[in-house]
Amino acid sequence: MKDGWAQTVLGAVDAADLGITLAHDHVLMDGSFMYVDPPDSVDQHLADEQITLDNRGWVAYHWTSSHHNVHLDSEDVAIAELRRFVAAGGRTVVDPTNKGLGRDTEPLVRIAKETGAHIIVGSGYYLGGTHPRDMSDRAVDSIAEEIVTDIQIGISDTNVRAGLIGEIGCTYPWLPNEKKSLRAAVAAQAETGAPLMVHPGRDPMSPVEIVEIVDQEGGDLNRTIICHIDRTCTDRTWLRDMAATGCYLEYDLFGNESSWYPPNPGIDMPSDAERMEVVLWHFEQGLEDKVLLSHDIATKHRLHAYGGLGYDHLLTNVVPRLLQRGLSEAEVNTLIIDNPAQIFGFASADRSL
Ligand SMILES: [Zn+2]
Repeated sequence: MKDGWAQTVLGAVDAADLGITLAHDHVLMDGSFMYVDPPDSVDQHLADEQITLDNRGWVAYHWTSSHHNVHLDSEDVAIAELRRFVAAGGRTVVDPTNKGLGRDTEPLVRIAKETGAHIIVGSGYYLGGTHPRDMSDRAVDSIAEEIVTDIQIGISDTNVRAGLIGEIGCTYPWLPNEKKSLRAAVAAQAETGAPLMVHPGRDPMSPVEIVEIVDQEGGDLNRTIICHIDRTCTDRTWLRDMAATGCYLEYDLFGNESSWYPPNPGIDMPSDAERMEVVLWHFEQGLEDKVLLSHDIATKHRLHAYGGLGYDHLLTNVVPRLLQRGLSEAEVNTLIIDNPAQIFGFASADRSL
C-alpha cells in the first residue's frame, strides 16, 4: 500500500513537506562513462584541461569530451550550488545517482545537513556500459533483493535509504543485462511501492518497450517515470499515447540551450522555449498531472561555478517565463510541488531515521 512519506538521505519526510522539488538532478556523480574523445583530434589536448573561461565555450559544446567536466566531485561546490537553489525557494532534489554513477551516500548526508535541502537518492543499475562485471551472472531476484534492501534497510551497510528505484539505464537497442536490471527494478517496485524512474534509450521505441516490460512484469505504470522525454520524442501523438499508459513524463533537460547533442548528434537538442511549449501543450490536453521538470545536471559546465545556470535555473529563469505564457501560480506548483509529492511519497513515517 502506498503511504505518503518520501525517503530522503536524512530520513522520512512527509511528501506534503517536500516543497519545490527538482525531480532529476545529480548532486555528486562520476560520469566518466560518458567521456568520448573530441570529434576533432586537434582538440585532444582540451580533453585533459581543467575548465577555464578560455575553454569553457568548447567544453559546453563538447561536454562529453572533457574529463574534468564529466565528474561532479566537489562537496563544497555542491553545497554552494544547492544553497542557490534553496535561496530561490527550492526545497528538495531527487538525485537518481545509483550503481555505476558513483553513488556515495555519506557526502550527500553532509550536503543535506549543510544546505537544508532534502536529498532523495536512487537505487538499482544505470546503463549497461556501467554495470559491474558480474552482472551477467546475477539473477533477477538477487538484483531485486539488493534494491529492496536499499529502500527498506539502507544502502551499503549505512542506514541511509534510497527514495526511488532509478535511474534504471536502458540503451536502444538494448545492451545485455539492461532488461534484466529493469525486470529486477520492477520486482522491487512491486515489493516496496517505491517510485520507478527509467532512463530510456535515445529512440521513441525505447520508452514504448520499457512501458511494455514494466506492465508485463507486474509493475505500476502510475508509479513509473520516464526520464529525458525532451531528447527522446516530441511527437504529440506519441506523447499522448505515452501519457495514456499512466506513466510520468519527465522534461528534465531544462537549461540545455545548445542544440548540438554529443550523445546523439542525429537529433537537435530542444531549447527551453520548446520545452515550455510542450509543457503548455500538456495543460491544454489536461495531461499536466503526470509531468515532472528538472535540469539533469550531471556535468560541471551546468553549474554556476563553471559558467552554467545551476540548480536554480528552473525557479530563477523558467518559472517566470511559464507565468508570462499564461500558467497560473497554482498550475506551476502542480509541476514543481504537487506532482513530485505524488510520486515520491510512498513510505510510512516509521521508517524515519
Ligand atoms: Zn538519465
